[in-house]
Amino acid sequence: MMVVTKMAKIDSILQRALSGERLGLEDGIALWESDEIEKMGSVANQLMLRRHPEPITTFIIGRNVNYSNVCDTYCRFCAFYRRPGHEEGYVLSNEEIFQKIQETVDVGGTEILMQGGTNPDLPFSYYTNLLREIKKRFPTIHMHSFSPAEIVKMSEVSGLSIKEVIQELKEAGLDSIPGGGAEILDDRIRMKISRLKGSWRQWMDVMQTAHRLGMSTTATMVIGFGETIEERIKHLLRIRQAQDETKGFLAFIVWTFQPDNTYLKREKLPPEEYLKAVAICRIMLDNIENFQSSWVTMGPEIGKLSLHYGCNDFGSTMIEENVVSAAGTAHKVNNNLAIQLIREAGKIPAQRNTKYEILRVFAEGQMAEKDFIMQN
Ligand code: SF4
Repeated sequence: MMVVTKMAKIDSILQRALSGERLGLEDGIALWESDEIEKMGSVANQLMLRRHPEPITTFIIGRNVNYSNVCDTYCRFCAFYRRPGHEEGYVLSNEEIFQKIQETVDVGGTEILMQGGTNPDLPFSYYTNLLREIKKRFPTIHMHSFSPAEIVKMSEVSGLSIKEVIQELKEAGLDSIPGGGAEILDDRIRMKISRLKGSWRQWMDVMQTAHRLGMSTTATMVIGFGETIEERIKHLLRIRQAQDETKGFLAFIVWTFQPDNTYLKREKLPPEEYLKAVAICRIMLDNIENFQSSWVTMGPEIGKLSLHYGCNDFGSTMIEENVVSAAGTAHKVNNNLAIQLIREAGKIPAQRNTKYEILRVFAEGQMAEKDFIMQN
């Protein structure tokens, strides 16, 4: 009897979502506590198809450039950073960065996601000069770079306000901001896993300041740190409310915490939990257009499945992902593999730019002329 009641409750919540009603905290918690993953996936897929009726899955050709691993934020879940003064700390030379961008452009790439630690030794002029030099050499490349934690560090180092920092970065060539560092937007869990990273409100303030300055961003969520289901749903409600206010989130990406090589000892979440998360995020976030599959952490097979659980995008064919791969996960996808996997999922692959404008649809049998070389 109890089981029947629970099923009926989930059915009714999903029906309300399908009829366009906005779900609340209690609804989200009920969904996450339920095992009806296929039902949620089916509803998420229907909601996705209302926004993206064509059977197209987009992807972007881009590259992550981790310009520095020096960081004084010491997040417990991070295997990438080295503390200031550590012998393995690095800052890439500008020439190395230009070389990586050139290689990306050579294979038809349009986006650079430059991200590092919160390096206290780099002056603000390092970033603005670098952006100017990049734009001088590669005027068409889209710089989707620097997460809120780095922007806050730039503000601390320079004495400028967050608004001034973003404005100056924009003038120097920054085009949009990636949503890294959101993890879970609730301060209880943030204090446990990344005490120095700042409150959820600070992350949101950086994003909304960028939106108000006419810059778009993405939003992310990472699950599996020991957060409660209620904290996960609060994360989604906070993103949804901010999107109502400033409308600058172009896409949402969720993935699961990868515990290897980190100080945070937790079990890896199973793939079903990821698929459930993707579906619930699509259902709850009724004001975000695009949901990216997170193949980097989940692997190509689960990535393919997520295209039937609410994702309309296969993310980036990034050839470097040092942050996630430092934590023991190294699924490399290149252009033609992405095209192949999208087809295997029953979709038509299309290359997009960072604004989600389609640049090229790949007709049946057509592959990319140029490709990255797999690193491992
Ligand atoms: S997640 Fe980012 S801010 Fe945190 S320690 Fe790693 S590099 Fe630093």
